[in-house]
Amino acid sequence: ESFCLKLPKIELHAHINSSVSEKTFRELLRKKDVGDGQLASVESSVFGPKETTFKAFDDCFDIFPLIHKVIDSPEAIYKVTSDVIAEFEADQVKYLELRTTPREELLTSMTRRSYVATVLSAIKDSKKKNLDIDVRLLLSIDRKSTVKIAWETVLMASELAADSDRIVIGIDFSGNPKINDAKDFIPVLAHAKSSGLKISVHLAEIVNPLESHQLVEIVPDRIGHGTYLHPEVGGLQESVEFVKKHKIPIECCISSNLRSLSVAKLKLHHFGYWYKQSHPVVLATDGKGVFQCSLSGEYILAAKAFQLSQEELWQLSEKSIDYIFADDKTKKKLKSQWAEIRNSKF
Ligand code: 5GP
Repeated sequence: ESFCLKLPKIELHAHINSSVSEKTFRELLRKKDVGDGQLASVESSVFGPKETTFKAFDDCFDIFPLIHKVIDSPEAIYKVTSDVIAEFEADQVKYLELRTTPREELLTSMTRRSYVATVLSAIKDSKKKNLDIDVRLLLSIDRKSTVKIAWETVLMASELAADSDRIVIGIDFSGNPKINDAKDFIPVLAHAKSSGLKISVHLAEIVNPLESHQLVEIVPDRIGHGTYLHPEVGGLQESVEFVKKHKIPIECCISSNLRSLSVAKLKLHHFGYWYKQSHPVVLATDGKGVFQCSLSGEYILAAKAFQLSQEELWQLSEKSIDYIFADDKTKKKLKSQWAEIRNSKF
């Protein structure tokens, strides 16, 4: 366990609002003007006992709006972003790609643009604090919203990606997989990719082989989850072959999948299937608050379930550098950081 705690790590799949810690969430709740009963129920819905929070896969999509109700102002999103960065840094994460859906809140006059500007200012301010972590951002497209908003998000990401600080580097496609047809968003995602943005696409979170295959065929730069890609669980063999041929890295979020009941047992997690074939995989937390986990904890779980040695865990974290969306210079810097840490402490 202590090995995983001190291992330098790369986090590539973390939604900002679902990464909020219980501590930060409580602080924000306390400041809000809501009656006690309401307060207690929001708190217990979000951070209740592990056994009671999720009874079905979709339950997490009921939790996100509750979190959004509490994190509904620029001040709140600034605090959450700053705290989440500091928490990942404390868990020895050296490079972090956050993702978040630009959100408008009429009550606080927050616009999608001011939301993103606030997240960016929290990231920039964290750089001034001399934290040992490089933070980048993907803008998320929530499939429950409209294709028009998706185009706006890609446009905003393209504009921001031209900034010299290179914080915004890509697009994430997420949201409840039971809502809307992902096919409608494919032209937007394809445009994002062809205009130089990196794309990470949530797919095969539920059994939907045709949709999963259509999304795979955009050749995303990374896949979020990919839980039901295999024929044994209802996917198509050709999807698996395509992913292998194009060596598309898969972001595996073990605790999230177990807690949201999309994977029944630790040992059955698809991380094992891809890892054993030396396919690019990266461990990630998804939402360390909502799913009550940490990136070190994900390494511990993977080691336990798939009997990984310390050397294999080291390789797993070091190889993740190859799958980041930032440029080669950043990869080179991280690789030398890993070499330095290995020479000094390991
Ligand atoms: P936010 O974008 O507000 O920072 O983070 C929460 C949002 O991320 C949710 O509303 C949802 O759209 C997306 N999200 C978080 N976790 C998951 C997940 O496991 N699967 C999918 N498909 N979307 C998720």
